[in-house]
Amino acid sequence: MLGKKAVPYAASAALVLVTTIFGELVKGRLEPTNLAMLYLLAVVIAAVRWGKGPAVATAILGVLSFDLFLVPPYLAFRVADIQYVFTFAGLLAAGLVVGTLAARMRGQTIQARRREAQTAALYRLAADLADSAGFEEVLLAIRKNVKQIVNCGVAIYLPAGGALALASHDPGFPAGDGEKGIARWAYENGSMAGGGPDEATGKRTRYLPFKTPQGVIGVLGVCLRKGAESLTADEEGMLNTLTSQAAVAIQRANLAEQSRHVELMRQTEKLQSALLSSISHDLRTPLVSITGTLTALQENSPGLDDATRKELLENASEEADRLNRIVGNLLDLTRVEAGTLRISKQPCDLRDVLGASLEQLRERIGSRAIRMAIPRDFPEIPMDFSFMMKAFYNLIDNAVKYSPQDAPIDIGARAHRNEAVIEIGDRGAGIPEGDLSRIFERFYRAENPQRVAGIGLGLSISKGIVEAHGGRIAARNNADAGATFIVTLPLEETKSRS
Ligand code: ADP
Repeated sequence: MLGKKAVPYAASAALVLVTTIFGELVKGRLEPTNLAMLYLLAVVIAAVRWGKGPAVATAILGVLSFDLFLVPPYLAFRVADIQYVFTFAGLLAAGLVVGTLAARMRGQTIQARRREAQTAALYRLAADLADSAGFEEVLLAIRKNVKQIVNCGVAIYLPAGGALALASHDPGFPAGDGEKGIARWAYENGSMAGGGPDEATGKRTRYLPFKTPQGVIGVLGVCLRKGAESLTADEEGMLNTLTSQAAVAIQRANLAEQSRHVELMRQTEKLQSALLSSISHDLRTPLVSITGTLTALQENSPGLDDATRKELLENASEEADRLNRIVGNLLDLTRVEAGTLRISKQPCDLRDVLGASLEQLRERIGSRAIRMAIPRDFPEIPMDFSFMMKAFYNLIDNAVKYSPQDAPIDIGARAHRNEAVIEIGDRGAGIPEGDLSRIFERFYRAENPQRVAGIGLGLSISKGIVEAHGGRIAARNNADAGATFIVTLPLEETKSRS
């Protein structure tokens, strides 16, 4: 077998042979100087196709063949005519010049192609990175683009908890202890590393460090093509360029992740302190009232008439209920926030659910008129009875809280395009327009009814419950007076989320 490098030389020899045979055939009809042109053609072909070395070889072989076979005396190295010496020299010079030029041009073409491929690869990576939303997507984009260059397995090692760990990899990428050791070496020394075939898989790998101005931030691992002993110069060049761009992207994604984490912590802290301050205030008010009542009863019991005692006890019981509602709401909120609200839907009669909410609010509603307008044949709605009861409870409770004592409350329902639209309206002061979009946020309270007790959780919990059913909730002010809350629920099971 010929080595790869010998092939162009063998081809050059074959070219000289063919030229000589052709020369032999036409030798009688052409002047020897013209025959030399045939060799010149061969030299040019060799130079253009295979480069300088084979061109020089063609020139030398050509000169020898020309002298041996085409110039008398045949089969002898004797220059009979001085003019042929010039022919030989011309042939050799042409071979060298054309060969050098062709080689330079070929080199430039290869360079240009390499640069073009590198630019294209960089551009593709940049575009993919720009599309990547999170850290994982950045790693995926890097792997995808590197894979297009090496066409085999890729892995990314990043430091985690003080050690270098495999952060993302293609299935089948060798990740035994030996391989990890090589990756660590590349990470610690900041230069490319690789060893022999992996013991378990037989694959060969190379590891390139992700370098940034701040230091090495990880390692890129690539498998070599089957049968390859190392990366080609092209592949290495491309990978070096890509790793530096990838390193910057990883660093940026890392920073973004960190700042998201910090922001989350900040939000959590803010939430916790808001929760604490509102809980401490809102839990204390009813507690103070209950304690006060109990103390009054304890200390002055004999001096109190039955009616006053009854009133005090009713007051304490109301405050205890309020306390219970606040604690219940807080518990529901934690479930909604944690996403652990597990609803189980059954077809329910809307009137039953609303009836249960109203029943719980019976005392607070008192003699107030509740005007229900629900068609007799209203379809059943897939709902979690007890959660939806809480959602409606909060809405009706608000209607009671935020409207005058004798004002009626309207509850209506209609089916519209496979959805049930339930409306709860009151005749109160309504909601300031600027607050309409914010009242569903937790702890948000509109400015005007601050005198009314509450902690701004009811609506956000109702919203969480309705959305867990695949529905929506909204609020609007009525044209004449008060506000209306609109709950839209899917009538078909399949449309909902849970
Ligand atoms: P809370 O009633 O405990 O303040 P909610 O989350 O139930 O908390 O309501 C948030 C805010 O929305 C209330 O503080 C109030 O300003 C406003 N709001 C809710 N329902 C009504 C209503 N029916 N009429 C007027 N304002 C309302």
